[in-house]
Amino acid sequence: MAQKKIIVIGSGFSGLSAATCLADQGYEVTVLEKNSSPGGRARSFAAEGFTYDMGPSWYWMPDVFESYFRRFGKTTSDYYDLLRLDPSYTVIFGEDDFMEIPASMDKLRELFESLDKGSANALDKFLEQASYKYEVGINQLVYKPGRSVSEFMNLRLLLDVLRMDVFQSIHKHIRRFFSHDKIIKLMEFPILFLGALPQNTPALYSLMNYADISLGTWYPMGGMHKIVEGMVKLAEEKGVKFLYDQDVQRIDVQNGVAKQVLTATDVFDTDVVVASADYHHVEKELLPKAYQSYSDAYWEKRVMAPSSLLFYLGVNKRLQNLQHHNLFFDEDFGPHAHEIYTDPKWPNKPLFYVSAPSVTDSSVAPEGCENLFVLIPVAPDLEDKEEVREKYFHLVMDRLERLTKQEIRSSIIYKRSYAHKDFIQDYNAFKGNAYGLANTLMQTALLKPSLKSKKVKNLYYTGQLTVPGPGVPPSLISGQVVAKEVAKEYAAPLAVKV
Ligand SMILES: Cc1cc2nc3c(=O)[nH]c(=O)nc-3n(C[C@H](O)[C@H](O)[C@H](O)COP(=O)(O)OP(=O)(O)OC[C@H]3O[C@@H](n4cnc5c(N)ncnc54)[C@H](O)[C@@H]3O)c2cc1C
Repeated sequence: MAQKKIIVIGSGFSGLSAATCLADQGYEVTVLEKNSSPGGRARSFAAEGFTYDMGPSWYWMPDVFESYFRRFGKTTSDYYDLLRLDPSYTVIFGEDDFMEIPASMDKLRELFESLDKGSANALDKFLEQASYKYEVGINQLVYKPGRSVSEFMNLRLLLDVLRMDVFQSIHKHIRRFFSHDKIIKLMEFPILFLGALPQNTPALYSLMNYADISLGTWYPMGGMHKIVEGMVKLAEEKGVKFLYDQDVQRIDVQNGVAKQVLTATDVFDTDVVVASADYHHVEKELLPKAYQSYSDAYWEKRVMAPSSLLFYLGVNKRLQNLQHHNLFFDEDFGPHAHEIYTDPKWPNKPLFYVSAPSVTDSSVAPEGCENLFVLIPVAPDLEDKEEVREKYFHLVMDRLERLTKQEIRSSIIYKRSYAHKDFIQDYNAFKGNAYGLANTLMQTALLKPSLKSKKVKNLYYTGQLTVPGPGVPPSLISGQVVAKEVAKEYAAPLAVKV
């Protein structure tokens, strides 16, 4: 059988995953990437001897990465070395009020018990349910393409879904088990990854607590970009062709079928298109209006996950009182959340996160130096000006210096900021979003933008704006799900793997 040609637009985790699965099934796959390097939001860059991961820094759900490589007869350790972090992370509640979260379950139980008597047993019960949700959620639900209700019409699965608290909020669910303020903050933290308020996030997502506490926080030595490098290597081993600096400008559709993909310099004939670039951009900017599945009004009503103001900093000394992952929860999240979701504006007293990978990994900073990545979650679609970035730089530095009790600013030898304008310029991100579409109940499974175009027969979507949602593991899964759907409809030259 002649090889069918597939163009994948974008080389983020979802594009890499889709491309590799499709090439493995015998398709001729070409990835067109607008930037000059792969990884999308997980690219890296080097400056002044420092190596920075540009986006993701938390390696959670190691089983998802492992099962990805295993479907090709490989293992993660063929491509990168993983280290389990201990402590997993530190939460800074205020001056001299730091809480290290131990990797060991026994130590975590002791910590809970020391905060609130009886809470260790509550944690056991909470995690028992969360483990069940993880099992059903990650092994069954997230691999559903979300194209038809019939996918869920299996009695066992329906019962499972009902048992999984889909209709109760995680906010309420956590409070059924815990009452101590710090424990509640700790348990609500993983929900930030889903891009929505705990009040609007189904309790199903306590599976994220299972991922956090039971499966642990890991780090690929050399940085998160090592995952990208491994995935590109595997993709190339499978025959995927990568073309960089290829900014796709149009998908040519004839009679409802995508025929060609056009970049500024080249034209590519294709049998199928898999778009892993931001869904909104592909629909609104690459397709003629008649072939767009969703209206402007539809997009305006979507709850986007937050954007971020980021700082990549190089410090010419080692710092005290910082772990690899540090959550600065020294202000109340309520008003900050309000400024992200309900009344979008630059926040007054934001929470922020600092990653210092050089605490674990000497390869990411020159000797005697510290590599810092600072992230402030902010609403999408804000006016992004240099003065505003600078104001927040000083706001964060004031708190960081005060809370960690050291002078940092004068030792900074490298500084780069990154926010909305950069997300738009680099990734064509709708409203400058960082993490795609929020995982609210009304934006779950079938209620997400569909992984298959409703108007163009051979156009599919993957990535953080479609199923299953934002984050590195979901993006990896999204690529696998779309590859399976393509193979169902466009006879795969080789046996289809499911
Ligand atoms: C700051 C930040 C921190 C994060 N932290 C974490 C974390 O700690 N853990 C975690 O699990 N997740 C994290 N995430 C989320 C995670 O990184 C993303 O969900 C995931 O990387 C998205 O992958 P993707 O393939 O859907 O999209 P992308 O990575 O955006 O890939 C899309 C690709 O399409 C390309 N593209 C766009 N338009 C075109 C065009 N016209 N032509 C050609 N190519 C085009 C882009 O350049 C890009 O390479 C974070 C994200 C950010 C931004």
